[in-house]
Amino acid sequence: MNDIDNPPLGRRSAPGDLAGRTAVVTGSAGGIGREVALVLAESGAAHLVLLDRDAHGLETVAKEVRDLGAQATALAVDLRDRDRVRAELRAALRSLGRLDILVNSAGVADENAPDDEDTWQRVLDINLHGTFAVTAACLEHLAAGGRIVNVSSILGKAGKMRNTAYCASKHGLIGYTKGLALDLASRDITVNAVLPGWTDTPMLRREIAAQADEIGADSERMLRQARKSIPLRRLVEAREAADLVGFLVSDRAGAITAQSLTIDGGYTRG
Ligand code: NAD
Repeated sequence: MNDIDNPPLGRRSAPGDLAGRTAVVTGSAGGIGREVALVLAESGAAHLVLLDRDAHGLETVAKEVRDLGAQATALAVDLRDRDRVRAELRAALRSLGRLDILVNSAGVADENAPDDEDTWQRVLDINLHGTFAVTAACLEHLAAGGRIVNVSSILGKAGKMRNTAYCASKHGLIGYTKGLALDLASRDITVNAVLPGWTDTPMLRREIAAQADEIGADSERMLRQARKSIPLRRLVEAREAADLVGFLVSDRAGAITAQSLTIDGGYTRG
């Protein structure tokens, strides 16, 4: 293993217990959302509705999903365009019939100064209000035994400098998860949040590169330092975060609801 990259995980065998299930996955053109889509398809899901603003990335993932034997419907839409989000989701869900799984993974991690209202609005609009809008459009289609997983962050429980918007959005997602879990419990629908720490995705690579640029440092060196601050001495793989989501949406997790599950290599120890 070199100093920067984790050993390759490869594709492990999937539990295969989602046979026939249908799912909506946001943020599925890249990073954790893409891996979630692949885990669901490998686990036997029948049809995935993939939503992301990155049309090109979405088509690539839709093809990967189809190659795994599932059907895929790609919705290339920006979460901030609420009317289109609702209209496209409703049309896709009508033709799907019933929905079993919703995973909200789309998000942005833009830094902001404490008085930067534009970034505050944009980050909350995508991370928090976007999740609400997608979930609201899916609710009437969610079947008994359904599953919702919201991808929050370890910054849903902590603060970080220059990140008031991101922290507020991710704290908000945890509160939303708990409240929604109670509202949907009588329909036998579980709602949980996953809180990743440093996870090796395009988002993290962009963030590290931007920070390195700003201080004139080497981004590979910054990544090495990041790994050293994590007890397991490595980043979380996007696939590992997706596997946790895969467990939460399976039949085996039917008694878990209103919870926040951290996956961070021991970083927060909370
Ligand atoms: P990523 O940037 O690799 O993927 C995010 C996806 O969301 C992208 O495909 C992007 O196109 C999509 N997206 C962003 N804004 C959108 C919008 N307005 N409309 C539609 N789609 C949009 O990031 P990731 O690391 O995979 O992050 C996934 C989730 O995990 C995010 O909610 C993020 O906050 C969370 N998270 C990531 C980390 C990490 O270290 N990578 C840590 C904690 C939490």
